[in-house]
Amino acid sequence: MGTSTAMTVQTLAEESPKKGIRLLATGDCLHPKWLAEIRDGTKERDGVFDRGKVSFVLQTEVEDNHRVHHIIIFPDVASVEGFIEGMKGRHSPLDSDGRPKVHMGGAEVAQAAVDCGALFGPSHAFTPWTGMYGHHTKLAGCYGDLAPKASFAELGLSADTDYADRISELHRLTFLTNSDAHSPYPSRIAREFNRLDIKDVTFTELRKAILREGGRKFALNVGFPPEEGKYNESACIACFKHYDLKQAMALRWRCVCGGVIKKGVKDRIEELADLPKPNHPDHRPPYLHIIPLSEIIAKAIHAPNANAKAVEDIWAKLVGKAGSEVAVLIDDPIENIANPAVADAVRRFREGKVRMIPGGGGQYGTIAFDDASPSEKAKPKSLKGQTALMDFKG
Ligand code: ZN
Repeated sequence: MGTSTAMTVQTLAEESPKKGIRLLATGDCLHPKWLAEIRDGTKERDGVFDRGKVSFVLQTEVEDNHRVHHIIIFPDVASVEGFIEGMKGRHSPLDSDGRPKVHMGGAEVAQAAVDCGALFGPSHAFTPWTGMYGHHTKLAGCYGDLAPKASFAELGLSADTDYADRISELHRLTFLTNSDAHSPYPSRIAREFNRLDIKDVTFTELRKAILREGGRKFALNVGFPPEEGKYNESACIACFKHYDLKQAMALRWRCVCGGVIKKGVKDRIEELADLPKPNHPDHRPPYLHIIPLSEIIAKAIHAPNANAKAVEDIWAKLVGKAGSEVAVLIDDPIENIANPAVADAVRRFREGKVRMIPGGGGQYGTIAFDDASPSEKAKPKSLKGQTALMDFKG
């Protein structure tokens, strides 16, 4: 449900290398037909299934009885089967819902994951509807006695390391910057990703990186500026008017239009934070903020959206020539970009002349260039001072 019919293992295996992705989490691996497609004709190799240049690791999200979403990463197919067993039928039909709803609390989900040797943690941990901190104020409030067994937190599109490291109980966790994809457009796959220092692309190595064992680690988190996320600021879910925390509280979370004001991740962090400023533990890797190239192209050529055919054509040409999206965005000479409008837009991105107009209430944030209309200039946020991705190497 909710996923494009074009999302096949084959398509993902073809499209992911264009984004520089070597290891992809399957999503939805409790779904019997999807699992069969992942396994089809491929031998399991230490928890991964290789297709062309890409390895798939078994992973799913589940929604617990508080509507909180959890990510579970499995060591092998037997573990997936063990987890299904552990749910004891307390779930929505597995053959329709890729992210099943389970009639279990967070602690029970954690127990089922631990029992089958899987890794677990909250997904988009701070988002208002279904994030762990949307409902709970502490990890233990969700996972109970098993909170110490959570090994990671996935930050979601609306938060970054600076947000999350204001909550000291998160310091021991590895942060994942992942994103889901419901369609195979280049603008959808790997909107956020991680760079790992590992010796081989296997579950064992991934596990070591998450647990930071044997020198394996996450070397870089790459993601949207938090303002791009659709729940960054508190805003009305009907008319998308933005409010600051004080205003929203004074209005009792009711917009002037009558709609509900949904608390943004920025304000939720402000409420939860026990540190006035982010305090990064030594193991925390740098965080690189990146804007999808397709979005920059769309803005430059005035396309209706980032999935437009004209955008895709330019994207494919540029990435084909430069080798990867990141090379186009950051490292490749501007002269290599033939389209003058796109070249100018990428130059502005590199010079920090792209500003974010924060998202909220379910509406994604957008980018604006410095010559944007005055209304678009309302909330400037520069991306200045970014170092090239290559500088973060090992
Ligand atoms: Zn409203």
